Amino acid sequence: MALGKRRVERFYTALNRFDAYLLLHRLQQVGVAAHVFNEHASSIVGDVPPDVAQPQVWLENARDRPRAETALAALAAERAQTGSVRCRACHEENPANFELCWSCGANLPP
Ligand SMILES: [Zn+2]
Repeated sequence: MALGKRRVERFYTALNRFDAYLLLHRLQQVGVAAHVFNEHASSIVGDVPPDVAQPQVWLENARDRPRAETALAALAAERAQTGSVRCRACHEENPANFELCWSCGANLPP
């Protein structure tokens, strides 16, 4: 992945893809440029140590870290309140307040 000469920084090691993408979307909402690496264990390439199989969220600019930490804290608070629901189509976990699956776009049960 070409990230140019900007200083990228690992911000967060996620529990699973759901966790990683939820945070990624939240960061995008607040204008923080970020990427998910290790989305699939089989795609591990380059500098990523092979023993790290969990998805990771990296910031494009290390200076965004304070904003990213604020977003992460808000996300954790929301998840504690809303709970989660599992997609019937692809079985990925979604926040209970989502109407469409983040992974496959299927309608989620109410
Ligand atoms: Zn799905």
